[in-house]
Amino acid sequence: MAKIICLECGKSFEHLGSHLRRMHDMSGDEYREAHALPRGLPLASDSYRETRRQILAQSIATGAMTRPDQADLVEAARAAGRPGKTPSDKERHRKIMQALRPGDHSLLPDGACRANGRDAVREREYQRAYRAKRNGDPSDMDAWVAKYRG
Ligand SMILES: [Zn+2]
Repeated sequence: MAKIICLECGKSFEHLGSHLRRMHDMSGDEYREAHALPRGLPLASDSYRETRRQILAQSIATGAMTRPDQADLVEAARAAGRPGKTPSDKERHRKIMQALRPGDHSLLPDGACRANGRDAVREREYQRAYRAKRNGDPSDMDAWVAKYRG
């Protein structure tokens, strides 16, 4: 069975949850924070999680595990959706993208062309006008059309 290595002590485990609490007195969230890991990163091996998932699915399918308000809970979770990214998440993602594709996410200077050969400023103005129009204000799009196609 695959194992994952604890970044605090270097030992390997199928799952870190109880080890972190017992040996390092930290929660999973504190561990992720301390080692700059993504918030949703699982702290258990894929095979361990798959085994747990199968056991849980079987318990639910056979009715061994259920709650009277289960349907309400599922509905509430679906309605709540996923949480938004935190500012530190956004900053971390920006650094990752900059390392992967340097310069890709900065504004092109005036007069530059995009990779497809189109004028960067014209395209940027179009995008702003398009977003404004989509949000109910067509005046920028009218101005753009008059400027470039009129
Ligand atoms: Zn450890």
